[in-house]
Amino acid sequence: MADTNLSAVLYSKMDIRMEEWPIPEPKEGEVQIAVHSTGICGSDVSYYTKGYIGDFVVKEPMVLGHESSGIVSKLGPGVTNLQVGDRVAMEPGIPCRRCEHCKGGRYNLCPDVIFYATPPVHGTLTRFTTLASDFCFKLPENVSMEEGAMLEPLSVAVYACTRAGVTIGKKVLVCGAGPIGLLVMMSAKAYGANEVAITDISQSRLDFAKKVGADHIILSDTKDAQEMARRATAALGGQPEISLDCSGAESAIQLAIYATKSGGVVCLVGLGPPTVNVPIVNAAVREVDIRGVFRYCNSYQNALDMIATGRINVQPLITHRVTLEQTLDAYKAAMEGNEIKIMIDCSRPVERA
Ligand code: NAD
Ligand code: ZN
Repeated sequence: MADTNLSAVLYSKMDIRMEEWPIPEPKEGEVQIAVHSTGICGSDVSYYTKGYIGDFVVKEPMVLGHESSGIVSKLGPGVTNLQVGDRVAMEPGIPCRRCEHCKGGRYNLCPDVIFYATPPVHGTLTRFTTLASDFCFKLPENVSMEEGAMLEPLSVAVYACTRAGVTIGKKVLVCGAGPIGLLVMMSAKAYGANEVAITDISQSRLDFAKKVGADHIILSDTKDAQEMARRATAALGGQPEISLDCSGAESAIQLAIYATKSGGVVCLVGLGPPTVNVPIVNAAVREVDIRGVFRYCNSYQNALDMIATGRINVQPLITHRVTLEQTLDAYKAAMEGNEIKIMIDCSRPVERA
């Protein structure tokens, strides 16, 4: 029987259709991949529930998903670094490779990046996709396909820790204990942070954070950011040198600034409202550097090495598993917000053991 290409296609908000799409052929320098695992990201859920994120609007039917791993099923012309059958993680943003940012090595800032499942580019919640061969990362045998898919959000966390300068001995504050905050907390510890405190407005998310390694959990039950900063400082036994906001919430960004030690760094990972009120003079006169984060750059291999060497265990974050055929149920579960990471098995039914 010929292979078909079942795909989860978003037509407009709240309208995902499971359709058979053509199997894409790899172009020069690309490989075709039989997708194995695809995680659901908050951005996928936003496109599903709202039909847009910022200026990116779903105008044409778009295949969802960008946190994926799979098996190379065909080589396009000129590909020499991979073979059919290789298990790979897929870095889902291909920059232009020519602009000043690409040439300068910060390709995540490329204005012409093609990012999977960002309109109008199709994503990887499908049986088969194609990808530039140098954005595929071969998985060693001790790294599972699900872990390969987790490299995408882990790369955000690894990159954020690099931007923030997390190193041995630092005290670190993380605001927000969603998948990204949890991975940032775990990465900070793997980077040698002495102690990491994490905040959230949800006690259940904090309880989960404690289970996966947070040293201190702090319930954000007040919008008084200076009071929260006192609590964070008390928990850590001193002010954090580095704070990473992974919530996008105004009061959390305020907390990150107030809490951070003079001369330290606040890293903005969370993307909330486009404009927020922050104590900018407090940051200025204490020389607290505020640094943005946009996705990641040259981070996939580091993230992979951290999993392969056992420095990070991402498996407990996968709290729900479904098959590609059950995508609609998965998105309903994602909207309820009780899961940390939902993983979708995109492999063909004959391959599922
Ligand atoms: P999520 O929504 O699952 O997690 C956010 C967490 O923050 C939730 O647990 C929520 O309860 C908590 N929160 C809300 N208000 C808070 C407050 N005042 N104080 C503390 N915690 C609070 O989202 P996620 O998938 O973990 O992503 C986190 C953020 O990172 C999102 O804003 C997302 O858009 C952003 N993100 C940014 C990049 C980037 O490239 N910069 C990449 C991926 C995700
Ligand atoms: Zn570029």
